[in-house]
Amino acid sequence: MNTVYIQLGSNIGERESFITKSMHKVEGDIGKIITASSIFETTAWGNENQNNFLNSVIEIKTPFDAFTILQKSQEIENNLGRKRSDKWGERTIDIDILFYNNKIINTKELTIPHPLIQKRKFVLVPLSEIAPNYKHPILKKNISTLLSECKDTQKVLDYEI
Ligand code: ADP
Ligand code: MG
Repeated sequence: MNTVYIQLGSNIGERESFITKSMHKVEGDIGKIITASSIFETTAWGNENQNNFLNSVIEIKTPFDAFTILQKSQEIENNLGRKRSDKWGERTIDIDILFYNNKIINTKELTIPHPLIQKRKFVLVPLSEIAPNYKHPILKKNISTLLSECKDTQKVLDYEI
């Protein structure tokens, strides 16, 4: 079994319900959820004229390889009504693979670790809740350290369910 960290984000419509539905679909199609972070709210990154995002990070155990997970997570995005539009555009659900074991993958369709983890507080804050000691396989620093060194000024707030 492989340990994989996945980020879920939503900023249109019933955001909370898209996060929980995507968790159920990940559990049905990709693998068992071992831990889920709280849900956090953040202003849209890279494009200020959008609704706030809700974000959560989950740890799963899965038998699938990283490319199969990418394909299955894109099917889940499509099933939940995601339309592919602008980069960093609005989305019902965005599913990003953050880490796959300690593997490093660099292809056109898949980069693992996800290249923006260390730059985004909305990834590091939920990740540090569930995996503070996980060591980034390229940067060789753990998540707590990456969070304390992160210069992102965005506010990442606890979302009251
Ligand atoms: P973003 O997540 O950057 O806002 P998209 O969700 O539209 O953008 O993804 C664009 C492409 O990013 C996908 O088609 C996928 O091939 C690629 N990609 C590369 N690395 C990853 C990763 N680690 N997780 C998810 N998608 C990735
Ligand atoms: Mg994505």
